[in-house]
Amino acid sequence: MATTINKQRLLNHLFAAAKKTVNVDEEARPVLQQFIYGLCRENATREQADAAYGFLCEKFFDWNEIRVSSLRELEEAFAGMSDAEMRAQRLIAFLQEVFEIHFAFDLDKLQKEGLKQAAKKLARYQAANDYIVSWVVQRSLGGHAIPVDTPTLRCTARLGLIESEQDEAEARASLEHLIPKAKGALFTDGISTIASDYCWEEQPRCSACPLRSECNYAQENGIEGMTVSRTHRTKPR
Ligand code: SF4
Repeated sequence: MATTINKQRLLNHLFAAAKKTVNVDEEARPVLQQFIYGLCRENATREQADAAYGFLCEKFFDWNEIRVSSLRELEEAFAGMSDAEMRAQRLIAFLQEVFEIHFAFDLDKLQKEGLKQAAKKLARYQAANDYIVSWVVQRSLGGHAIPVDTPTLRCTARLGLIESEQDEAEARASLEHLIPKAKGALFTDGISTIASDYCWEEQPRCSACPLRSECNYAQENGIEGMTVSRTHRTKPR
């Protein structure tokens, strides 16, 4: 794993790269909507999540219509994404649970509760996981959390920001220590872009990656000094 100084240098490179590619003007969403967006965003690019969330908002009258829709209708929203059926199932289960508890689709009163209490309540929903709770804490509850999905875990382990044997929850705790709260969202979107554009599971495109000079994996494989490859390769889905 990289030393603390190297990690900070690496993060500075990541933030500089992210500022060039990440659109920081993001739609502000209430808690319930942010939970649903998190469900779209886990293991997906921002473009994929925007498209899926946009489909849900445009093709259905309201959240109640989505709650009573069939899995097949909802799977269309997640077409081309990993685990489309599972995402649709979790979305229906979440809306059903919210409806049974609150008889309304509004979780904004969580914003008035303490952060820990709000996160605890969100985690109780069956559709919740560590990623979604962290996503809502970071984007709607004003807390410090770094959501870690599979691409984030893979990329941060290769970079040397976390230990390679850490799971998502352990990685989240390590990253929350390293990254200042004010840069949490930029980190999340920046690392997601690196993972999707370069740090593929198989045959990562290190020679074109803006982080290659600081990356453990690239150094171990003798790639950090290579020039940008001009070879075009189709991005795996
Ligand atoms: S240099 Fe390679 S391994 Fe390192 S972050 Fe970039 S694509 Fe991933």
